[in-house]
Amino acid sequence: MNEPKRKKRVVSGIRPTGPLHIGHLHGVIEPWRDMQDDYDCYFFIADYHALTNWSENMDVKKNAMEVALDMLASGLDPEKSTIFRQSDIVEIPQFHLVLSMFSPVGWLLRNPTYKDQVEQLKIESPNYGFLGYPVLQSADVLMYEGELVPIGKDQAAHLNLTIDLAETMTTKFGKLFPVPEYLHSEFATVPGSDNRKMSKSYGNVINIKDSEKQTTKVIKSYYTDPLKPYMGDPGHPNDCPVFYLDKIYVKDKDELGRIRKTCESGERGCGQCKAELAEACNNYLRPIRERRAELEQNPEKVLKVLADGAEKARKIAEKVLARTLKAVTIR
Ligand code: SF4
Repeated sequence: MNEPKRKKRVVSGIRPTGPLHIGHLHGVIEPWRDMQDDYDCYFFIADYHALTNWSENMDVKKNAMEVALDMLASGLDPEKSTIFRQSDIVEIPQFHLVLSMFSPVGWLLRNPTYKDQVEQLKIESPNYGFLGYPVLQSADVLMYEGELVPIGKDQAAHLNLTIDLAETMTTKFGKLFPVPEYLHSEFATVPGSDNRKMSKSYGNVINIKDSEKQTTKVIKSYYTDPLKPYMGDPGHPNDCPVFYLDKIYVKDKDELGRIRKTCESGERGCGQCKAELAEACNNYLRPIRERRAELEQNPEKVLKVLADGAEKARKIAEKVLARTLKAVTIR
């Protein structure tokens, strides 16, 4: 009899900056949900990473709970995936420290995300943790013997340092953990109400947990094709974020075709178009919101999922850390 095929291990995390929005839902959580049957998935809430841009009004613990609720309500299944909080793995800071001793500063200074963020956010004095966050990201993957890391188009640079570091360690000490590979995935970038990428910092989001009324209000405020100010003017649906959301929420292909055609011909008005989108979006989110509300009433269930996930992840973490400490002659 053939042995069941071993599933490769996928590791990925999300920073808890607050409740998740539909950009996270369609861009991260749903692709993760769809990997659960094919891979041995380790999904974590990266709460230490949230500290890289700490601010006075931040409540990381509360945000981590919000993210856990959103993840579970959106279809991440603890029966299939290991779901946990990064900070519950006590081995992570120690492992990160050891890896940092083998991470040349030049690699970190060349990291394009670091340079972009420092320029874009006009950070005058970037902190040590921010410069070193790719080392913590590497620890997050290597700690659980991750073999595959899901990345979207143009995100290869994020994983390059992890691969370089894993290769350096393997050359020096032999195999302590696998050298991970990319798992190229389709991650949608959802436009926000102002047609920029949906992001809490732009204030252009629809949160998973928002009410239907709030969702309708945000959709009503959406940017539309500026060349179609009035009904009767021909529109360009491909340049309109409302149509982008239609492609997610309107499941009937004929209906979607009708929206495109009537926009292009001018027959369709943007007000009506947004009202129909709001209905479709709320219909899609309703079961997720219902599950979320139920979980919110039972926080102990959520905490148990995180505790069980951490216990399982730590079993691997303990072994990898012990092996690494022995290799570097600390133990
Ligand atoms: S009719 Fe709809 S798809 Fe066309 S421009 Fe207006 S909102 Fe966008």
